[in-house]
Amino acid sequence: MKIKLISVAIEKSNLSFPLGALCIETAIKSDEELNNNTKVETLLYDLEDNPKLIASYIINENVEMVGLSIYLWNREWFDSFTNEITRLNPNIFIFAGGSEVSANTNSFDLNKYKFLIAGEGEESTIIAIKKLLHGEKLISNGIISKDNPSLTYSPNIDLSTLKSPLLSNICNPFLFEDCSILWEMTRGCPFRCGFCFESKGLRSVRNYPFERIEKELDYIVNSGVKDVFVLDPTFNIDKKRTLKILNLIKEKAPFIHFTFEIRAELLDQDLAIAFSNIFCSLQIGLQSIHSEVLKSVNRSFNKSLFKEKITLLEKLNLVYGLDLIIGLPHDNLQLFKESLDFTVFCKPSNIDIFILSLLPGTKIYEDVNKFNINYNHKSPYTFIESPSYSKEDIIEALKIKKGCDYFYTKGNAVMFIKVICDTFEITPSTLFYDFNCFLDNNYSEEEVNNIDIFELQDIFINQLFEKQKLNDDYKKALLSYIELHQGLSFYLDVAASPILSLWYDPNVLSLLDNTNIHNFIKKNKSFKNKKDYYITGEPGNIDIIEY
Ligand code: SF4
Repeated sequence: MKIKLISVAIEKSNLSFPLGALCIETAIKSDEELNNNTKVETLLYDLEDNPKLIASYIINENVEMVGLSIYLWNREWFDSFTNEITRLNPNIFIFAGGSEVSANTNSFDLNKYKFLIAGEGEESTIIAIKKLLHGEKLISNGIISKDNPSLTYSPNIDLSTLKSPLLSNICNPFLFEDCSILWEMTRGCPFRCGFCFESKGLRSVRNYPFERIEKELDYIVNSGVKDVFVLDPTFNIDKKRTLKILNLIKEKAPFIHFTFEIRAELLDQDLAIAFSNIFCSLQIGLQSIHSEVLKSVNRSFNKSLFKEKITLLEKLNLVYGLDLIIGLPHDNLQLFKESLDFTVFCKPSNIDIFILSLLPGTKIYEDVNKFNINYNHKSPYTFIESPSYSKEDIIEALKIKKGCDYFYTKGNAVMFIKVICDTFEITPSTLFYDFNCFLDNNYSEEEVNNIDIFELQDIFINQLFEKQKLNDDYKKALLSYIELHQGLSFYLDVAASPILSLWYDPNVLSLLDNTNIHNFIKKNKSFKNKKDYYITGEPGNIDIIEY
């Protein structure tokens, strides 16, 4: 039997690594009977690929069974694909798994799908395909079919029994020089955040054996991978194991970049130092700073503890990003702005803001009526409004989000945003809102994406100066400080120096890191004319020299 497993990424990017489908391919190929009787291959597409054309390609390949890896972001794509492929060949067997299937099983039409897999797929998929080959009824935990349409979940798998897709060479078609991959280390999470699939606690926390991690790391290093996103939602939960893995990475993969998701409250000095010894960035879910909001989704927040942990990272020059959510119960526009303003002053390198998705299968989905939340009932189940968040306020929050995405994260504004806010006496959230209005009023979406972000920042800041009529000294100091940091970002990004035209010596400008701009301009005189500088040196040992 010829089987194609289909994965659809959001976009063609280095991180479109079809791990879920590759795990199923590995499981099928590791089973003696199925390995002898099937020919299986994983295919990777993205949302820009036409689902109808892909369906006709699959039919022309005489495929007898397709397995779909369905997530929030590709549900519509797969709906269209499934309609087309069943129209072209009503006898083709289609099965599907993935988080969208586990979460919203009832929304799939069993007239089109031979079976669905809810929960972890490696074992249940093998059972289902074998039953099909043997002509048996498709009845087993985690398999939803016409034979047994009621929802059950696959039992949690003992991870030590699973073959590694990396070590079985099954990932090879997707590994190339400088690529990015997902690396699964753990399944399950001990926390129960109401907006997350883990909130129902269906998956206990299980780690892959350390020996497998060690061998996989060797494999990753030898494959020329540049970037690894570690799949472990709370990587630092077990300090001993975390330190052991970080030491292994330090020893074997000092030049590969790793991204870890961590819990801030579980950080300590030892862990922060171990992270700083490797090339990595950390992603931390903050979501909101307001206890009442967080309590509704089974989270909490201790401001001083959080600041203390973030300071640990800051002192060691670690790169970290923070996540926020718009639309949690009891949240409102004002509280969101406060959360965002606090987040900016934690100095993350990136801020990722998401609008709440009411994912079927999560605790918050069960509580929608309790919280009176109105949401879109189709994937991606986006929040629309609640008693505390009107539709108009959501529109404003999304404008702030867009301004933040561009000005702060894309514009790498971490070093200079505070000085801008001090100069114009505005909060970051107001700045982001105004920046978004500036973009909307002056540029098309295409222009916004194509014009250099630093140029857009400069035009915007110059317009703010025109509106506020501040003393010229502020303009000289602020624009020079921004140019200095934009230049450093550019240099670190492309390893080529721009010419910096500054009103102050760079060493003097660096006083603004810790000095209020009002005091700075009182104490420091600008040059009569701008002077040009260039950047040289290695990261960690950079020099700025007069031209
Ligand atoms: S949001 Fe993160 S910490 Fe919370 S339950 Fe989900 S995976 Fe666990």
